[in-house]
Amino acid sequence: MATHITEREARQVAEAAREGEWKLPSFGRDLFLGRLRLDLIHPQPRLDIAAVEKGERFLARLRSFLTTSVDPHAIERDAKIPDAVLDGLKELGALGMKVPEQYGGLGLSQVYYNRALTLAGSWHSSLSTLLSAHQSIGVAEPLLLFGTEEQKQHWLPLVARTHVSAFLLTEPDVGSDPARLGATATPTDDGSGYLLNGTKLWATNGAIADIVVVMAKVPEGGITAFVLAYDSEGVTVEHRNAFMGLRGIENSVTTFTDVFVPAENVIGRVGQGLKVALTTLNTGRLALPAICVGVSKWAVKVSREWAAERVQWGQPVGRHDAVAQKIAFIAASAFGMEAMLDVASRMADDKRNDIRIEAAIAKLYASELGWRVVDELMQVRGGRGYETADSLRARGERPIPVEQALRDMRINRIFEGSTEIMHLLIAREAVDQHLQVAGELLEGEGDLKAKARSAAQAGAFYARWLPKLAVGEGLRPGAFDELGDLAPHMRFVERASRRLARSTFYAMGRWQAKLEKRQAVLGRIVDIGAELFAIASAVVYADTIRREDAGRADEARELADLFCRQARRRVDALFDALFANDDTEGYALAQGVLGGRYLWLENGVLDPADAG
Ligand SMILES: Cc1cc2nc3c(=O)[nH]c(=O)nc-3n(C[C@H](O)[C@H](O)[C@H](O)COP(=O)(O)OP(=O)(O)OC[C@H]3O[C@@H](n4cnc5c(N)ncnc54)[C@H](O)[C@@H]3O)c2cc1C
Repeated sequence: MATHITEREARQVAEAAREGEWKLPSFGRDLFLGRLRLDLIHPQPRLDIAAVEKGERFLARLRSFLTTSVDPHAIERDAKIPDAVLDGLKELGALGMKVPEQYGGLGLSQVYYNRALTLAGSWHSSLSTLLSAHQSIGVAEPLLLFGTEEQKQHWLPLVARTHVSAFLLTEPDVGSDPARLGATATPTDDGSGYLLNGTKLWATNGAIADIVVVMAKVPEGGITAFVLAYDSEGVTVEHRNAFMGLRGIENSVTTFTDVFVPAENVIGRVGQGLKVALTTLNTGRLALPAICVGVSKWAVKVSREWAAERVQWGQPVGRHDAVAQKIAFIAASAFGMEAMLDVASRMADDKRNDIRIEAAIAKLYASELGWRVVDELMQVRGGRGYETADSLRARGERPIPVEQALRDMRINRIFEGSTEIMHLLIAREAVDQHLQVAGELLEGEGDLKAKARSAAQAGAFYARWLPKLAVGEGLRPGAFDELGDLAPHMRFVERASRRLARSTFYAMGRWQAKLEKRQAVLGRIVDIGAELFAIASAVVYADTIRREDAGRADEARELADLFCRQARRRVDALFDALFANDDTEGYALAQGVLGGRYLWLENGVLDPADAG
């Protein structure tokens, strides 16, 4: 039977899994507080020469393997990554890209790990999904962050070379809400381990895995993460799931019946499993935008080639303004997403900043913008965009899989934290400073003494903070001139960041504890922050290209400029809608829909789904 969990309990579980402390500076956190800390992202850290050489060598091998030994169309047709391909990936060391050499991996930097995913994902998304599920959320990353030395020595060489791993959190009743987790781990009488019971849904790689991470409730309280040999007695793969896209992934329903897992297989501390999962994702989240960047760069290529070749109404379609605007959007967006990824990934390698907000924004932003990019790409390709690659080939045309890209891309807005959950998660971090100084005041409940203490504390903070939001570098002509022609965009970011902080403060005053219910408002606040990080990244990345690859300086500036212009318009629209919107009417109408008020609107159609 489904566990009943209140909203408050669900929130408490999420809160307990959060990393509460900020030990390192955070560009994103300051941005939401109205402070543009350009020094944290500019100039970007230089890439380590040895890491570049190693990374480039690997990319060359991966590229050659993909193009000579992997048929992406066969993966799509057969809905399967052939065993020989998996063996080839193992031989290349692709399973252990991020595992340090001392544990048998390749020890690639974050930047090159991402580039490998970008490359593999552009060939077939199922390949990059296999690789990222295996190492960004699978066994390697949680063990690297939380494992004991014995655990690392035992498991890492396996998952780096030969053993496929998976991450099993989701259950039929547990999607975005881990508080409802039903799988249990019961300590054995002799204390040597636990017995696992439960059903896990949608585990990517779960149909072929050798070693997995499983999340289960423990009687001590909370959720614990276990590493488990998948051939343990009592583990049954019940079903391989099929989806709209990612047809080659081996995604499972797996049941656990009294599966013994030794006590030494607990990852981190008992009851801290969600913290393990969330902290793993702090950088692990960069894998997904890397895949979105790959698809978007491919979209630039396809739209460039097709719009120049296809002639309608007397000229190539790329010369018609409507299509030209789409090409510009695709190219500028691909640049913007790559910039954001590069800024966040170099910071991840550099390890001097806390990048949890930047990585989360990169996931949110690239999955949303990347989706629009492939949608526009389909429009540029017209009917051919909607036609399958096999059908195109059968008619004698190039098998360009745009419809597949669209199908494969869609999931990115749902998994590893849906857009709605990312909005809440980032909003929580964005208002963290306010909760720290004024938490008691914002809580609906709480005792008066605590509220008074909180009021004094908050008064002191806001007396210093608020005046700083009135003026800043963004108002000074000539500020950020070291960024050349792109400086006005950075000035915009500075001004908009203060406006965002003022708006957030206003929203907190207006709705207080109820602000968390205003998800549409929070979503806009986060989306503005995301666009500002994107603009800052585009400007900084163009400057990096100017320094590192001078021949491309002008082109990078042009791409960055258009991207920033488009992003600024999105920011303006978001600000406009922040407090002038139809949220209240929308919410009320939705409740009417849920209550059956408009049932007559559904007349005249049939529902092809039976009872299931
Ligand atoms: C192809 C694929 C691969 C996957 N791989 C894995 C894997 O390897 N391991 C694993 O553990 N899981 C995996 N998942 C599960 C995936 O992470 C979940 O689908 C995701 O967490 C969303 O959960 P859900 O689908 O149950 O949606 P639900 O949580 O039921 O949500 C339904 C809708 O409500 C929204 N929503 C939910 N809660 C809130 C809230 N509090 N506020 C506002 N909106 C809300 C959601 O955003 C969504 O739009 C995979 C799923 C798919 C489809």
